[in-house]
Amino acid sequence: MDEGQPQVSGREAAFGDASPERDDAMSGELMADRVASRLRALPQIQRLLEQPEAVRLARASSRAAVAAAFRTVLDRVRAELRLGDVETPTVADLVDRAEALITADRLPGLRRVINATGVIIHTNLGRAPLAAEAVAAAGAAHGYCNLEFDLESGVRGARAQAVEPLLCELTGAQAALVVNNAAAAVLLGLTALAGGGEVIVSRGELVEIGGGFRIPDVIAQGGARLVEVGTTNKTRIEDYAAAVTPQTRVLLKVHQSNYRIIGFTEETSLAELAELAHARGLILMHDLGGGALIDLQAEGRPHEPTVSQCLRGGADIVAFSGDKLMGGPQAGLLVGAETALSPLRRHPLMRALRLDKMSLAALEATLRLYRDPETAIRRIPTLRMLGQGASALQARARRLAQLLEATADVDVEASQGYAGGGALPEQRLASWAVALSHPELSPDALAAQLRAGRPGVVGRVNGGRLILDMLTVADEEVIELAAAVRAALI
Ligand SMILES: *Cc1c(COP(=O)(O)O)cnc(C)c1O
Repeated sequence: MDEGQPQVSGREAAFGDASPERDDAMSGELMADRVASRLRALPQIQRLLEQPEAVRLARASSRAAVAAAFRTVLDRVRAELRLGDVETPTVADLVDRAEALITADRLPGLRRVINATGVIIHTNLGRAPLAAEAVAAAGAAHGYCNLEFDLESGVRGARAQAVEPLLCELTGAQAALVVNNAAAAVLLGLTALAGGGEVIVSRGELVEIGGGFRIPDVIAQGGARLVEVGTTNKTRIEDYAAAVTPQTRVLLKVHQSNYRIIGFTEETSLAELAELAHARGLILMHDLGGGALIDLQAEGRPHEPTVSQCLRGGADIVAFSGDKLMGGPQAGLLVGAETALSPLRRHPLMRALRLDKMSLAALEATLRLYRDPETAIRRIPTLRMLGQGASALQARARRLAQLLEATADVDVEASQGYAGGGALPEQRLASWAVALSHPELSPDALAAQLRAGRPGVVGRVNGGRLILDMLTVADEEVIELAAAVRAALI
C-alpha cells in the first residue's frame, strides 16, 4: 500500500487497531476519486489500434481479433484498477498484454510437452507416450475404416475384431473385452457380475487410485454391496471364506498400485482365492491396474506380475490399463474366461464404455509389437525407458549440460526417477539429471518460464534448483530441450 494512503479494505479496517469511522468514510471517498481518475486515464480502443505494434498484429491476424483482445485487456485492467493499489498501465503495456492474449489464443489448449520429471507414466502428462507404429495406426483410422465391418463378407462385423484375439494370444486368455479405461473395466465387471449381490474385498485393498476412483465407491456404483474382510495389514483366506454368503458373487483382488503396506503384513495369494471362489461358485476378479504383458524382471527391469501370470494363478477376470506399463493408448482391457466375460459383453453399459476407432487402432498396433518381446522393448517407449542403462542416461545429461553451459548454471548429477502410473511406487529407478539454477530467477520462476515455452518443458524443483531428469527425455529431444531452455532464459 502506498505510503500515507488510508486503508480501505474492509478486512484491514475491521482488524486495524485505530480506524475511526470518519476516517474510513473519508478514505473511501479519496480512493473512489483516485480509481475514477485512473480509469479515465485509460486510452480509447481506437488509439490502441493505431499503435504500430497493433497494426502489425492486425495484419498477421485481423483488426477484429486485435480489437477483441484490447477489449478483453481493458476489461481486465478496469477490474484491477477498481480493486485499488495499481496505477493505470501505459499504452505499451496494454499492447503487450493484447499480444500475449492473441499468441496464447493461437496455441492449441492440448499441446506437446517434454517430460523431464523422471516419472515415466505420468498421468498429468498423458501417461504412456505411444510407439510410432501406434501413432501411424491411429492416423490411418481417422477417416473411414472397417471399424464394425467385415471386409471379407461385406456385412456388419464386431467392433474389436482385431484386438480381442490378439489379447487372447498374448495373455493365454480364453476371451477378451476392451473398454475406455481400467476404471470402466472394473465398473462394468462389478455391475454385470455382482449387481444386487455382494463383493468381498480385503481391507488392505480398499484403495483410492486417484481422480476419485475409490474401490468402495465403484462397488456401490455397480449396485453391489461391499463386504470388507481382514485388516489393513493382514488378510487371510479364512477371512474371505467366513464372509461368503448365498449373496456373494465376486471375490475382488485389487493391486495396491500407488501405495504399499510394509512390515508385518500378509496377503492372500491368487491361487488360494481361486480355490475358494471356484469351490463356492464365485468369480475371482483381479483389478491389476497397470498390467505388464511381458516379464519385465527377465529384461533387467523391475518386477510386476504379468497379466498371464495372474490368469495362470486362477483369476477368472483380469482388468488392466492400456496406457500404463503396457505403453499403449488409454483403454481398459479385460481378459479371462468366456463364461465370466460374456455377461459384461451383453450389458447395456458396454455401449456407453466402448472405445473409439483411433484408440482401437493404436491399441492393436501396440499389441502387435508384443508378438515379439524384443521388438516390444525396442519400439514401445515405456518399456524402453524402464530399461535404460546408467551410462546412456549420464551421457544424455552431459550432452544437455554442455548445450546449456553458456545460458545457466548447470550440474550433472545422479538422480532417481519412478515408473509412475501406480506401478512400483516404492521402487526408485536410477537416473541422471541436469540441475539448473539462474542468478536472477527463483527455481519456481524458472520452472514457470520453461512450462510456458514451446514445447513446454516440465521438470521438478528440488533443493533450490530446477531438475531436468533424463529418464523420461529421449535422445532425439535433447537439442530441442536445450533450445527450449535457452529461449525461456533469454
Ligand atoms: C490405474 C488403476 C486403475 C484405473 O485405471 P484407468 O485406466 O486410469 O482407468 C484401476 N485400478 C488400479 C489398481 C489402478 O492402478
